Amino acid sequence: MYKLLKLIFVISAVFIFQKTSAQDKNDNINVIVIDAGHGGKDSGAVGKKSKEKDITLAIALRLGKYIKENLPDVKVIYTRKTDKFIELHERSEIADRNNADLFISIHVNASTKKSVTGTSTFIMGLNKADKQLDVVKRENSVILIEDNYKTKYEGFDPNSPESDIIFSLYQNAYLDKSIRLAELVQEEFKQKAKRTDRDVRQAGLVVLWNCAMPSILIETGFITNPSEELFLNSKNGQAIIASAIYRAIKKYKYETEHQNKIIKSEKKVTFKIQLAFSGKKIDTKPENFKGIKNVECVEDGRYYRYFTGNTKSYEEIAKLQKKVQKKIPDAYIIAVNNGKLITIKKALQILNN
Ligand SMILES: [Zn+2]
Repeated sequence: MYKLLKLIFVISAVFIFQKTSAQDKNDNINVIVIDAGHGGKDSGAVGKKSKEKDITLAIALRLGKYIKENLPDVKVIYTRKTDKFIELHERSEIADRNNADLFISIHVNASTKKSVTGTSTFIMGLNKADKQLDVVKRENSVILIEDNYKTKYEGFDPNSPESDIIFSLYQNAYLDKSIRLAELVQEEFKQKAKRTDRDVRQAGLVVLWNCAMPSILIETGFITNPSEELFLNSKNGQAIIASAIYRAIKKYKYETEHQNKIIKSEKKVTFKIQLAFSGKKIDTKPENFKGIKNVECVEDGRYYRYFTGNTKSYEEIAKLQKKVQKKIPDAYIIAVNNGKLITIKKALQILNN
């Protein structure tokens, strides 16, 4: 459905650039897709007395209820409301068809060690240390029970460790926003819900791969830990988890919709072209970026951003973007102000003031 362009770089990795634009939507959050992980013939992780698919559905429905009750301007769409099997690609397609502003996928984690507990929130991308490999394998392996999965997922094979290299230089115009939302979810889990914090993580998750909107996958706890399994199956536990996610969404919505007012008109706006965003450090030599020169690598927390261009003129950067897009079609313009990323709309507002 999306035009995915495969580029083979000298470092022999295949990079996928996604056709999205950060500028084609306004900042309002009015449609939220809630995705209850697994379902039907796919049980997900299995505990002593429960299955992941049932917990995810209960939490998803509760979260939707809280949103509907408290955020009347938001339309909630569920990928499933019953115990039904849905292919991974179909989940992000539901979000796309409905022009969703957010995609929230809910899951339950598992470990071979009974003692492991806690929540983590994932965003799309290749993680630096491959520590999430078991999560990635488990959450992606669903596609093995789908028909024709190899043609549907660009040759991706969850059993082949090399094939997830297709995620290694994934670029999504919505990653910044996904990270922010993920951080807010973990903050709520830790501070208010008092869950063990396993942090925001980046992983090559198929369900998030084609989402053209900020999207996160939440592992709400471990089904393999007896007390967490009990908690996740209790009405109270489900309410605590769902309300933490709800509060994070509410905060995110407020932040996103009020950003313009918060930022003071500082005339220090700079435009750049973002070429890639990755959990891996890549040498900035032109060969690694389709011959594009003057590539700058900026370490941003645990991620690396790759830019070219540096100008205060939007016209100039738009011209450069046209040139760059001949080589990397989905390269996009970003605006920085006082060392912080801001939207193009905001940048232009500031410049015009
Ligand atoms: Zn799952």
